[in-house]
Amino acid sequence: MSNDFQFVEVGRVDPIKHEAKKRATQFIEIYQPFTQPEVKQQADRCLDCGNPYCEWKCPLHNYIPNWLKLAEEGRIMEAADLVHETNTLPEICGRVCPQDRLCEGACTLNDDFGAVTIGSVEKYITDTAIAQGWRPNMKDVTPRKERVAIIGAGPAGLGCADVLARNGVQAVVYDKYPQIGGLLTYGIPSFKLDKEVMATRRSVLEGMGIQFKMGVTVGKDVSFQSLLDEYDSVFLGMGTYTAMKAKLPNEDAEGVIQALPYLIGNTHHIMGTQDDATPYLSLEGKDVVVLGGGDTAMDCVRTAVRQGAKSVTCAYRRDEANMPGSRREVQNAREEGVNFLFNRQPVAIKAENGQIVGIECVETKMGEADASGRQRAEIIAGSEQVLATDALIIAFGFQASPAAWFSDFGIETNEWGLVKAKKTDDNPFQTTNPKVFAGGDMVRGSDLVVTAIAEGRDAALGILNYLD
Ligand code: FAD
Ligand code: SF4
Repeated sequence: MSNDFQFVEVGRVDPIKHEAKKRATQFIEIYQPFTQPEVKQQADRCLDCGNPYCEWKCPLHNYIPNWLKLAEEGRIMEAADLVHETNTLPEICGRVCPQDRLCEGACTLNDDFGAVTIGSVEKYITDTAIAQGWRPNMKDVTPRKERVAIIGAGPAGLGCADVLARNGVQAVVYDKYPQIGGLLTYGIPSFKLDKEVMATRRSVLEGMGIQFKMGVTVGKDVSFQSLLDEYDSVFLGMGTYTAMKAKLPNEDAEGVIQALPYLIGNTHHIMGTQDDATPYLSLEGKDVVVLGGGDTAMDCVRTAVRQGAKSVTCAYRRDEANMPGSRREVQNAREEGVNFLFNRQPVAIKAENGQIVGIECVETKMGEADASGRQRAEIIAGSEQVLATDALIIAFGFQASPAAWFSDFGIETNEWGLVKAKKTDDNPFQTTNPKVFAGGDMVRGSDLVVTAIAEGRDAALGILNYLD
């Protein structure tokens, strides 16, 4: 029986992490799974407050209190059914969503008692149910004759394929990489998300009838025109991959590294695969500085630690409170030995004989908030200093990378190169070519896994509307 005062009697408990010293040498997930009694105890802390702000703050509007209750009662298969009603990749969101900014940040208990551990319970429900044989119930799905091509097997493409398949439409997903997942497989390191998790999800999606055509670059191996001819509609979920430059002198010096190729090369190395475009780079024994304060920067510092770097420093131009990355990941990085230098703005890369030797920074102080609500970093005159380094990773985020062929098919982009897509209820996420829909990072700019899934799922509703 549930206890109405559980939230007072039992505090929030997060899953146990592997010891920091041990995990700083390993590319394995750092959180151990919850046990069933822990899930029962933690899920029972939910007040069922009647105002589930957590649901509103979750971009997928997951039925959080309802599946917490099922988990508390041990009804894991029913919980898994409900979790999947709104989410295509719940085990992945449970692992990588910045819950402190989303569902858990909005939990009624957050300020005074500690939020319910929503993400960890979501992960437990899904991992456990799938391991026990849970699969989506497709018995009542009536097959339709229409077929839809999806370009990109990242969270947006998979979200779209899931909803189409559950509505009887044949979804065929094309991706240039050998494995599905997009940045989930090749960007996010395995200490946050084990690659086996994605492989298991692939088998679930294939079991639903979704087809994957991997290792196929649309625009090179197959033409976009051929997809338009063969399919009833096309969804674009191709992400954003143009790295933002630091625009500093000597940016082309030896030892200056772009974040994503570095992370992708490392993932290939761990998976035993290779891609000439993103070669493996070891930073063992180096003094490493990472510029940036988002999730990508945190993944780089923690990867460098695991590769055996001599020292790893993250330099960020605002203060800690204004960092865009998840608080949890900053904490994890700190525990693993990363130094943080806040309020440091880079002004020049120092190089000798073409090799980086340092990064010159100025100190900043926090000023007025800008249009996005974040405080501006104001430079303090005369505060220049040089940090000695032999490897500098630039993790300033990504800009749109629209394909050259979009304009040939009437697919318009905005001034930042993001694909224009409708946000209205009629045919949501339809582009300026009525047969083509788009979602995820390539429409909203680089953001989160959960928002990409949400847009892919909404776009599928737009496609169903269009097909009808
Ligand atoms: P992607 O995941 O980029 O997938 C796009 C897919 O399209 C790729 O597989 C690509 O190969 C394919 N593709 C592109 N062009 C073609 C073509 N012409 N033909 C065939 N295939 C093509 N978000 C979080 O919520 N939590 C995190 O902890 C987090 N960490 C991150 C860490 C890093 C290093 C990075 C870079 C991002 C992180 N993000 C995180 C953001 C998140 O990964 C993205 O917002 C999300 O993956 C976007 O999904 P998407 O489907 O739009 O694009
Ligand atoms: Fe929270 Fe993300 Fe799960 Fe939504 S999908 S409930 S934001 S962990």
